[in-house]
Amino acid sequence: MSRSRAFAVGQILYALAAVAVVALAASVKTDGYVANILMQAATYAIAVFGLSIVLGLCGQINLAQAAFFALGAYAVGLGGADYHLPFWLCLLGGMALAAAAGAGLGVSTLRLGGHYLAMVTISFQQILTVVLINAIPVTHGPDGVSSIARPAGFQSGQAFLALVVAVLALSGYLVWRLADTRLGRAMRAVRDNELAAGAAGVDVFRTKLIAFALCALLGGLGGGLFAAGFSYISPDQFAFSDSIVLLTMALLGGVASPIGSAIGTILLILIPEWLRFLKSVPGLYLAIYGAAVILIVIFMPEGIWGFIRRLFASRAGAAPAAAEPFTLRPADSGASIALEVRGLTKHFGGLTAVDGVDFQVRRGGVHALIGPNGSGKTTTLNVVTGLYRASAGAIFVDGVEVTGLPPHKRNAFGLARTFQNIRLFRSMTALENVVIGAERDGNALVAAGPAALRLRAQAALDFVGLGARASETIPSFSYGHQRLIEFARALAANPTVLLLDEPAAGLNSGEKRMLHDLLDRIAAQGLTILIIDHDMTLIAGVAKHLTVLNFGKRIADGETADVLRQPDVVSAYLGVA
Ligand code: ADP
Ligand code: MG
Repeated sequence: MSRSRAFAVGQILYALAAVAVVALAASVKTDGYVANILMQAATYAIAVFGLSIVLGLCGQINLAQAAFFALGAYAVGLGGADYHLPFWLCLLGGMALAAAAGAGLGVSTLRLGGHYLAMVTISFQQILTVVLINAIPVTHGPDGVSSIARPAGFQSGQAFLALVVAVLALSGYLVWRLADTRLGRAMRAVRDNELAAGAAGVDVFRTKLIAFALCALLGGLGGGLFAAGFSYISPDQFAFSDSIVLLTMALLGGVASPIGSAIGTILLILIPEWLRFLKSVPGLYLAIYGAAVILIVIFMPEGIWGFIRRLFASRAGAAPAAAEPFTLRPADSGASIALEVRGLTKHFGGLTAVDGVDFQVRRGGVHALIGPNGSGKTTTLNVVTGLYRASAGAIFVDGVEVTGLPPHKRNAFGLARTFQNIRLFRSMTALENVVIGAERDGNALVAAGPAALRLRAQAALDFVGLGARASETIPSFSYGHQRLIEFARALAANPTVLLLDEPAAGLNSGEKRMLHDLLDRIAAQGLTILIIDHDMTLIAGVAKHLTVLNFGKRIADGETADVLRQPDVVSAYLGVA
């Protein structure tokens, strides 16, 4: 079945299931106890969808989802009960408030990452709890807010539950679809490999920030519906432990997909109910509950839904139809120098890894950067592509100074690279990896839409000889083939300059011949290349110009044949007198 057919069938099935569930919620009579459980599950699941964006797609931790939930709940509760504002206005206000709080937290910490983010979200959660309890004139304190009204048309518990289920279905749909949009791909790229994402043109900070704000927004939405659903809220419903419960729901079901989030939510709400008969033995119920959660997390690391998907995963999807021939059309300002580095210096503490290096890479040529291990080659490339900030010096791409720009902006000016230690987006398919490369700002193709991008990516994979395996994920490829996928990702971006860090390292002789052939085919299309490698046969075969580094300093520069005859190069690099 073709991808678009499968997708259309998936959409129709989802719509049918959603309509059926909403109809059930609207028509089947339940007693108050069951209705409460359903209301809680549905509103929590919406908040858990948020975690499936921030943690599942983007790989960032949020330990304050209950706080964002509370912002939505209190906006609806206080707005309706104290200020007599319309429900829908309060709900939207609560979502906006939550999203703004999420974005604010994100702005202050997302650059720091991991542990700081965890700490700051916990603090936010604790502070909000303290405020809810103590700002009694505004929040009613520990008494909570009661008699929260439901919107006109949904006054009965059953009608409101149907509404909540409809919102749940819609938000689940949007979260599901998000994964395959440019933003969703960017999030997954950030989750899999932040450095490579930046170098491939993804604005890492902005992507994380949006993920965080969307997560908080869904938290606010769930909380607003929760408040009206139960018509009573109090601070103890939105404590830190509830944030942990929400996170566990996401992890338990499978954080990578909204279906997993829904499964996890339902289970974590139902398991305690199922175990209720054990309540006569104090503590036993909690112990079994905890053990069940731990066992699921240990034996199903991708969650329940991830486990199920793995069971039914079809191997090797059909090879896509042969794409158009792959052509490189690098931007050309007409200047003869495509990349220039002036006085480039990089200190790491007391160590000067790169020391006042100058070189010019001519347009349409292959330029090699060589030198012994530790001579500063990779550091030069990292400073040129923006992974490190230059301590001094300037970098120009096609005449434009890029020295202070973040990696994704330099990528937009036409720098694309591969890494010495391969950096691919490992949970994604080869094709998705290459689509992210093609999807950079400044590539005219982006405007042509997703189908054109996929064709371009497929053509790039065909070009490196891996077109037939486009739909496999990265771990199924050999080391040499992963290198080629990195090449395809960089080439699909249609870069002005391609930077290669030791592409031949770790390849066997057959793979090296293929690499040589590939480099010849790339160079034949007029692409400018800066290559680092130790394989002198390869370098002498492809590079017209050489720059030689030793201890961070440039010791030679010029035509390959001339440079290789210089005695100091021979002694520094080849270690012979
Ligand atoms: P090459 O690629 O030529 O083998 P590198 O550029 O990787 O060399 O390293 C040059 C020097 O800079 C080495 O002494 C290395 O230890 C040091 N270096 C590289 N990256 C870092 C870093 N992130 N922090 C500290 N020192 C570094
Ligand atoms: Mg290196």
